[in-house]
Amino acid sequence: GLPANDIQTTSSETSRPTTSIQLAGKVIAITGANRGIGLGIANSCLDNGASHVYSIDIGETGDDFAAVAKRFPGKLHAIKADVTNEDTVTAAVDQIVQEAGSIHGMVVNAGRTKHKPALDFTREEIDQLWSINLYGAFFCARVAARAFIKLGVKGSVVFTASMASYRPNKRVPSAPYGASKAGVRNMTHTLAMEWAQYNIRVNSISPGLVNTAMTYWVPQQPDWEQQLKYYGGMPRLAEVEELGGAYVYLLSDAASYTTSIDIPVNGVIGI
Ligand code: NAD
Repeated sequence: GLPANDIQTTSSETSRPTTSIQLAGKVIAITGANRGIGLGIANSCLDNGASHVYSIDIGETGDDFAAVAKRFPGKLHAIKADVTNEDTVTAAVDQIVQEAGSIHGMVVNAGRTKHKPALDFTREEIDQLWSINLYGAFFCARVAARAFIKLGVKGSVVFTASMASYRPNKRVPSAPYGASKAGVRNMTHTLAMEWAQYNIRVNSISPGLVNTAMTYWVPQQPDWEQQLKYYGGMPRLAEVEELGGAYVYLLSDAASYTTSIDIPVNGVIGI
């Protein structure tokens, strides 16, 4: 049996865990936050008190990024790095710790898709998808975990998975994309298990259809709103702001005992 005093309890009021869902004082890195879902998450983190948010992105920043940066002067930053190269991600995280003093959360969000029948995919196309969505995801999570362990921070890693990890999209199927996102959800569980000893939490979020460059094809479908309704969903795409709350929760201390889960944010359906 267990020793009698094996379970540690907190006794004083001052050491009670927080119940407030906010990010005051936290430094958050988000890959692929120059635009789209990542930028929406950045905006939500800053709305909820994060002291600094860093976008780790291979691309350029645009007007949308500048607008969020203007709302939060001195708090939104961009570092150029390719998530498929672990050394450049390590350099980016080192820079964040040097500039901001610490890092508390890593949102592993950069990703690509390609819609094609499985019979037509070339080896190069599959390599490109998996190197960003799988290798990149693994590297970013691991680089963050190394920093959290070194700093003694109870960090949070949040992956952007997808409803495509659960089931294919009948209109634009992509076996390599779905497999990459299912891989992300699977590595969530293993990393959560391996890093629980360091109080590092690893979770994922599975968006459905979100209004970004990635879903340009949706409004091109005839009767697409009717189709979404037919499949039991809200007859619209999600706006990026509608995802942010789930990320903020998983990054916050209010989720300090929440690890190895996926939160689908998909307006009922994911197709
Ligand atoms: P997006 O194309 O608008 O943004 C992706 C960002 O990632 C870009 O800024 C891009 O420069 C960056 N990026 C791409 N490759 C990179 C690399 N190698 N290194 C660093 N940065 C890189 O896409 P989005 O719609 O915002 O998608 C974000 C994430 O959400 C992706 O992982 C995607 O698979 C996932 N997702 C999107 C939807 C949707 O409906 N849009 C649904 C489910 C999941």
